[in-house]
Amino acid sequence: MNIQSRLPEVGTSIFTVMSRMALEYGAINLSQGFPDFPVSQELIELIYKNMKAGHNQYSPMPGAPALKQSIAEVVTKTYHRPTDPENEVIITAGGTEAIYSSITALVKAGDEVIVFDPAYDSYDPSIRLNGGIPVHIKLKLPNFSVDWQEVRDKITPRTKMIMINTPHNPTGSVMSESDLKELEKLALEYGLIVLSDEVYERIIFDQKEHQSVLKFPALASQSIAVFSFGKTFHATGWKVGYTVAPENLTREIRKAHQFITFSVNTPVQLAFAEHLANPDNYLHLGTFYQRKRDFFLGQIKGSSLKPIPSYGSYFQLLSYESVSDLNEFEMAEWMTKEKKLAPIPVSAFYHDRADHKLLRFCFAKGEDTLERAGAILRKL
Ligand code: GLN
Repeated sequence: MNIQSRLPEVGTSIFTVMSRMALEYGAINLSQGFPDFPVSQELIELIYKNMKAGHNQYSPMPGAPALKQSIAEVVTKTYHRPTDPENEVIITAGGTEAIYSSITALVKAGDEVIVFDPAYDSYDPSIRLNGGIPVHIKLKLPNFSVDWQEVRDKITPRTKMIMINTPHNPTGSVMSESDLKELEKLALEYGLIVLSDEVYERIIFDQKEHQSVLKFPALASQSIAVFSFGKTFHATGWKVGYTVAPENLTREIRKAHQFITFSVNTPVQLAFAEHLANPDNYLHLGTFYQRKRDFFLGQIKGSSLKPIPSYGSYFQLLSYESVSDLNEFEMAEWMTKEKKLAPIPVSAFYHDRADHKLLRFCFAKGEDTLERAGAILRKL
C-alpha cells in the first residue's frame, strides 16, 4: 500500500524527542516546557469533589456553563472586554486544540496564513493539514521583534489569517502596545482574522503588561485569543484551554471543535470554575516565575553562555556562539548525552531550520534542579 504522507517532512515533535533523550541519558530535562512543582492541593480536591458528586459524563460541547461563566468574568475584568459566556467562549483540550480547531474552522484550501518564526511547532502543520499555505516571516534579532512593513509587504489577496504569540515561545519576547496597534491596522485594512496564542498571558516580567488582542476593541472583533489552564495552574498534563472570540468566529470554531474533541473532561472544568473565583490563585504567577528566571540567570553568571532577555513565558534562550561551532540540534544532543542537561534547539521552531546558536531552557523547575543545571552550564 502506498501511503502518501500529508506531512512528509514532519517527524516526532522536538519536545517529545528531547524529553525522551533526557530520560534515556539520565539528563536534567529543561527541554520540554512543563513545571516540575505540584498543582495546588485545593484544585486537586475540587476535582475529586466533583467526581464524587457524580459529574463524570460529557460536559456540554462548548464547555461547562460554570467554567465559561468564570472565564467570561475573568476576561472582562482583566482585559476590559465584556465577554458573553454563552457565545464567545469555547473550552478546548489545551491551547493546541484551540489553535487546530480555529484553523480547521476558518482556513480554506489555498488561504495564506502569516506565521512568525521562530514559531511553536504545531502552527505550520495545522495550517497545511487544512490545505492552507503558511507564509513564514522571521522575527528580527536581537529582540525577536516584528517588522510590520515586511508583514504588510507579504499580505496578498489570499491572506486569511495572521498568527501571533505573546509572551513568545521559545524566545520570551513580548509584544508592545504599538505592535498590537500595527496589527489592528493591518487586520482591519485587509479583513484578516488574528489567531493570538496567549497561553503565557500571566507569565510576564519586569512590570511589563500583557498586550492581549482582547484589549483593543476593533482588533478583538476579528481575533481569537487562545489561553491555557495548563500554563497558569502548573497542570500541562490536564490539557484544558479555551478560546475567547466574537460570536461569528466562535460559532464556526465550535463546528470544528465538536468533531475534534467534542467536549473536555467535566470534573476538571468544574474545578477550574471554582478555582478561578479567587484571583489570588493566578495573579502572582508573574512574580513567581520572574524569581525563577532570575534564579536561573544567577546560576549561569560567569558562564560563557549569553542570555537573550526573556520578558515572559517560562523559557530562557542562551547563546553558545562563543562556546561551540556545532549547530543547534547537534549541540542540544551533545549537551544531553555528554553533559546530562537537555535543552531545545531553537532552529526546530524555524521552518527553514535557521540556526543562530541558540538553545531554549525551561526554568519552570525547582531551585535544586536549576542549581544543578547552572553548575553544568558554568563549566561549558
Ligand atoms: N509547550 C511546550 C513547550 O513549548 C511543549 C508542549 C508539547 O510537548 N507538545 O515546550
